Amino acid sequence: MDDAVVIGSGPNGLAAAIELTRAGASVRVLEGNDQIGGGIRTAPLTLPGFAHDVCSGCHPLGVLSPWFRSVPLAEHGLHWIQPPASVAHPLDDQPAVLLRLALGETASELGDDARRYEQLLAPLLRAPHELLADLLGPLRVPRHPLRMARFGLPGLLPATTFLRAWFRGERARALLAGCAAHSILPLESVLTTAVGLIFAVTGHVADWPVAAGGSQTIGNAMASYLKTLGGRIDTGVRVRSLRDLPPARVVLFDTSPAQLADIGGPVLPDRYVQRLRRYRYGPGAFKLDWALDGPIPWRDPRCLQASTVHLGGTLEEVAASESAVWRGEHPARPFVLVVQQSQFDPSRAPAGKHTGYAYCHVPAGSTVDCTAAIERQVERFAPGFKDRILARHAMGTADLERENPNYIGGAITGGVADLWQFFTRPVARLDPYSTPNPRLFICSASTPPGGGVHGMCGYFAAQSALRSLRRLPDHLTPLS
Ligand SMILES: Cc1cc2nc3c(=O)[nH]c(=O)nc-3n(C[C@H](O)[C@H](O)[C@H](O)COP(=O)(O)OP(=O)(O)OC[C@H]3O[C@@H](n4cnc5c(N)ncnc54)[C@H](O)[C@@H]3O)c2cc1C
Repeated sequence: MDDAVVIGSGPNGLAAAIELTRAGASVRVLEGNDQIGGGIRTAPLTLPGFAHDVCSGCHPLGVLSPWFRSVPLAEHGLHWIQPPASVAHPLDDQPAVLLRLALGETASELGDDARRYEQLLAPLLRAPHELLADLLGPLRVPRHPLRMARFGLPGLLPATTFLRAWFRGERARALLAGCAAHSILPLESVLTTAVGLIFAVTGHVADWPVAAGGSQTIGNAMASYLKTLGGRIDTGVRVRSLRDLPPARVVLFDTSPAQLADIGGPVLPDRYVQRLRRYRYGPGAFKLDWALDGPIPWRDPRCLQASTVHLGGTLEEVAASESAVWRGEHPARPFVLVVQQSQFDPSRAPAGKHTGYAYCHVPAGSTVDCTAAIERQVERFAPGFKDRILARHAMGTADLERENPNYIGGAITGGVADLWQFFTRPVARLDPYSTPNPRLFICSASTPPGGGVHGMCGYFAAQSALRSLRRLPDHLTPLS
């Protein structure tokens, strides 16, 4: 009997497996797909010679999360490529705003708001790794309460309220609105300023990187490290019930709360299962990948320096787009996230050609084809873009969910991260990674600190499982 089985090989499943094996446990990972990695996979979605990141494309937390910083993935083939700028946020009729590593350089893009931007960010950048360590985890007493208070007081406010009050001009407001929109919440919601600030902080600590060769190399490096530690991975094994599991003392679910309820239901109390079923997943995404005949012809060519481009114009426009999605609408001018991997990693496309990656948020379960709306937004800031398209690949909410059963209704970050569910995912418990059954744990992005490639959900879930493993008797019957 293995000490642990992990269901799912997404970044959190692999992080959990690595942590468990590092502590001496025997671990087996079961992955439903033929390819490992979950949200960190790369595939030839368009034409031969073009490598597209199926889900995650850009990885600020991949370089900055305390867990990723603790593992020797470079020795296992992971090479981050850092661009000259993290974000470009183009605006109509004026130069784009660029989020660059140097605070002063970014501030200099912001006109009259330069000093206010520096006043806001400088205190958060005094010990950014400590701040990130406090933020990327479950609700607990912060190790640096003063620093957290400095962050949390403005952070709690809705981005619309804070950004209008703090800044005078549209450039700074737009830059942080784009960062805040990663929350997939209406920008009128509390906590959205915090998300904007976290992403801005990361951009001042490390240029948001892409993985050389594709995001798949992140998963491959994690799997290679896991194997050197003695862990095993079986692919093509979709777990549907406890009977599908090999004997193990504990099981960690890198899955949605819904799957934990479906699979673990027979050994979990009804009340806990009902709470898992009340979990909210939130809006979905519509994603496009393009094979391009050349780089995106941005009106402001400096946009080519950034790994990520936020298309949505002013704070007002970004906020209107995100609120519309929450009302169940498809905005004509959606907020679009573009990643330009091949601009920095030539291995992604044949010489002279490029890949393009973009998605927008859509209502949960949407069946609307957003291709035209996304391409109109790109064309708005990059006239002539459509002429560069050689081929495109589209994924709606149903395609995303088919790719990965964790993306319920097309939700890509493990569920709504509003004030309530941010800390109580998947249900409110002192140890949210544990369940009432001391042999079952959840380690996916549906636990704190939520979506993104940072491995922290897996790390904390492994600690929780290790505490249980120490208490459990050696001889246990199979879970089913
Ligand atoms: C379009 C898109 C763009 C994104 N962009 C970014 C980005 O740029 N940067 C970033 O940091 N994050 C991004 N994300 C989010 C990021 O990919 C996820 O938050 C992250 O992958 C979550 O990791 P995880 O380990 O919790 O789960 P997942 O990555 O979802 O992995 C779960 C794995 O479990 C497997 N599985 C599920 N159920 C079963 C079962 N019953 N049996 C066996 N296997 C099972 C799945 O096949 C999958 O491989 C993006 C996501 C999407 C979809």
